[in-house]
Amino acid sequence: MSSELHLKKKKGPRVRFAPSPTGPMHIGNTRTALFNFLFARHNQGSFILRIEDTDTERSEKKWEKNIIESLKWLGLLWDEGPNFQKIKKDSQSYIGEYGPYRQSERKEIYKRYIQKLYDDDYLYWCFCTKEELQAQKEELMSRGEPPRYTGHCRNLSKSQIKKLKIEGKRGILRLKVPLKIIKFEDLIKGEIKFDSSLLGDIAIAKDFETPLYNFAVVIDDYEMKITHVIRGEDHLSNTPKQIIFQDILNFPHPKYAHLPLILGPGRNKLSKRDAPLAISDYKKAGYLPEALINFLALLGWNPKNDQEIWSLEELIQNFSLKNIQKSPAIFNIEKLDWFNSYYIRQTPLETLVDQILPYILDKIPGKEIDREYLKKIIILYQERLKKLSDFFDLADFFFKDKLEFDEKLLYWKNMTKNNIVNSLEKSKKIISSIKDENFNKETIQELLIKEAEKEDDRGKLLWPLRVSLTGKSASPPPFDIIEILGKEKTIKRIDKAIKRLLD
Ligand code: GLU
Ligand code: ZN
Repeated sequence: MSSELHLKKKKGPRVRFAPSPTGPMHIGNTRTALFNFLFARHNQGSFILRIEDTDTERSEKKWEKNIIESLKWLGLLWDEGPNFQKIKKDSQSYIGEYGPYRQSERKEIYKRYIQKLYDDDYLYWCFCTKEELQAQKEELMSRGEPPRYTGHCRNLSKSQIKKLKIEGKRGILRLKVPLKIIKFEDLIKGEIKFDSSLLGDIAIAKDFETPLYNFAVVIDDYEMKITHVIRGEDHLSNTPKQIIFQDILNFPHPKYAHLPLILGPGRNKLSKRDAPLAISDYKKAGYLPEALINFLALLGWNPKNDQEIWSLEELIQNFSLKNIQKSPAIFNIEKLDWFNSYYIRQTPLETLVDQILPYILDKIPGKEIDREYLKKIIILYQERLKKLSDFFDLADFFFKDKLEFDEKLLYWKNMTKNNIVNSLEKSKKIISSIKDENFNKETIQELLIKEAEKEDDRGKLLWPLRVSLTGKSASPPPFDIIEILGKEKTIKRIDKAIKRLLD
């Protein structure tokens, strides 16, 4: 632990974001992380990152890396947790005084508690197979009782256990669950009551070193002095179990706040069909972190006014668990696009150039791109971009030497081939006549419009011209394009189109 951290030690609440690295950081998870972060910052508390990798079969380092990279990219930096600066060099190191912050590195701690509960006769070995457990549940249901573990192995004798172990049977440790009504006050949902008899004896560990999820969480929350557990509503059913463990271990209860679900536009469980789920995919597509933060904050947090644009700083200042709605939040990708285009418009030009450049190089690797040239093009598109990856699809013709498009696209309304050739010749003549020192979009526009207006329909001149330069049916006005392409390239493209028509 660094001494610097001592100085920064915070007095406020302690909250944690506790992802399982079994998949990439996704929308739901990220909203949970954000709300924990905002709560900690608003209250001068600590935001802790804990990696819940007890499930060794499903946990992978690459997902842990993905989660950490996503948090860093979004600017949701943690006060305690794996050491993000050294993540590549030394994955074991961490920041904070309650580490390690990966469950896989905390076995010694779990062992102490499991052993103690076992010695105090709260635990017993259960050797029921999956099939046996299923049969027990079905039997209960056939009697109209809720399915749960029946306590089948509660009274196995020491010698029976020994025998089963010698036979190579793999057991699991279960807790003798006391019968009682569990009550807690959820900061969002209000009072929740739960009858523990519905649970049966809960499995808490595979062996003395390997706790199952619910038990590990309770130990860690206690050991890490967590004051508030803020997590998705999908965890609500775990809370009574966790409270039972806390009571048996004489741990204080943290305060709970279960966040409303995020549903898809059809009020279904949010799925890949509605939108990408991984934050890394949003990054790849060219969404800006500010846009995602702003969008996610409003998925469940209601500022009680109609302000839409929120910076992270403003969110920190205004965030309160009191303003979290009970009803589900609806995910709407158009809304995210709206935020994203807003933040793209706010981005300083130089920054935008840096952000967009990789998308171009991705499509045409090795191409040398002049920064000033790119800047002019970006100015042309900044207002209309929804995401950074849209740029190349819209503006590719500025970077390509050869345009590929269907000749038919050059035709405007019922113009004949001859009409189009004549129209392009006219444009060419006008453009060639402009002196270099006057070669700017105002002059280009003035002269071309003057010519175009000689006809009943401006499109007769401007459409074939624009298509010959872009190969596209939609683009910014030709005057802006011509100014950026320059006289030489413009003439070349017009010539090429004429040649195609005449060949
Ligand atoms: N590890 C759990 C998950 O990824 C979260 C546990 C918790 O927040 O209590 O869903
Ligand atoms: Zn059993």
